[in-house]
Amino acid sequence: MKKALITGLTGQDGSYLAELLLGKGYQVFGLVRRSSGSNLDRIGHLGDRIQVISGDLLDQTSLMDAIAISQPDEVYNLASQSYIPTSWTQPSLTAEYTALGVSRLLEAIRRCHPDARFYQASSSEVFGQPDVSPQNERTAFRPRNPYGAAKAYAHWMTTNYRQQYNLYACCGITYTHESPRRGAEFVFRKITRTAAMIKLGLASELRLGNLDAQRDWCYAKDAVKAMWLMLQQEQPDDYIIASGETHSVKELVQCAFNYVGLNWQDYVVIDPSFYRPDEPIQLVGNIAKTKAKLRWTPDYSFEQLVELMLESDLQQLSQEAIQPKVQLVSQLN
Ligand code: GDP
Repeated sequence: MKKALITGLTGQDGSYLAELLLGKGYQVFGLVRRSSGSNLDRIGHLGDRIQVISGDLLDQTSLMDAIAISQPDEVYNLASQSYIPTSWTQPSLTAEYTALGVSRLLEAIRRCHPDARFYQASSSEVFGQPDVSPQNERTAFRPRNPYGAAKAYAHWMTTNYRQQYNLYACCGITYTHESPRRGAEFVFRKITRTAAMIKLGLASELRLGNLDAQRDWCYAKDAVKAMWLMLQQEQPDDYIIASGETHSVKELVQCAFNYVGLNWQDYVVIDPSFYRPDEPIQLVGNIAKTKAKLRWTPDYSFEQLVELMLESDLQQLSQEAIQPKVQLVSQLN
């Protein structure tokens, strides 16, 4: 039985990857930070099929312990501080988790279990304001925010450990990827969730920033398949993980409101507080190498992704509308 250790297990990608690996018969370990509240919502349904190890990317010893306990064949580093606006308000903490955390993890693998294969979640944010579109694995890095700068450091550390120490270490440069498990602060989920709320009479408007911003969105379930494939090759390498298509925020809004049978112009309000300083206007991945070498393409189109997110948001909101009453009754008891 193969063993895998996932950092960021409780996040969107960690939870989908855990499901994928369990389905393939892996023994799955997850590194989870101690916190006062429960943050296991996304993996609760997996119950005791995952072995949780307490540890933190800020703490070298806990990473060495996690590697020693799990003796993994594969390590997937999906943990980071990944919300860009927060990377401006907490730049040092972002660097500690997103950049230095990767050095610590690579060092733990090198010292304790150098045969483990390593996947680093790199990000299209390393390209910043790219001068070519689409971008590929050789496009210059010009990060334009603290998160992108930290991811660029982590990317180069991973490739350096591959060259210097012969580790099987790979970077997947992922573009934005979404799912019903995505936080509602990210624009895709914000739009589908708010459109669903408006449809159900729970909200009256959707406040957004730049409607012309374009992104390359794919489904998180598709993205984690590419991550796994990267660690099954003969040689370690870096790959773009993306849909290869761009869509604007406006197209996303139109598609979501069409799906619920509403006219978006009646509900969308432009709010300058959601504009970002100096953001890339067109990030889109060239997935030629990923297609050719990994034989991977996304299974879900942009429209299918909008549909599945809306269906899930509509269902979740309908359930939430019933649940508060149940909680109130049990509180009274
Ligand atoms: P990320 O920037 O790729 O991590 O993902 P987001 O989902 O946060 O943002 C995607 C794009 O949507 C960015 O170009 C934003 O400028 C744009 N955008 C427009 N309105 C909003 C909004 O209300 N919230 C967020 N998060 N992004 C918005």
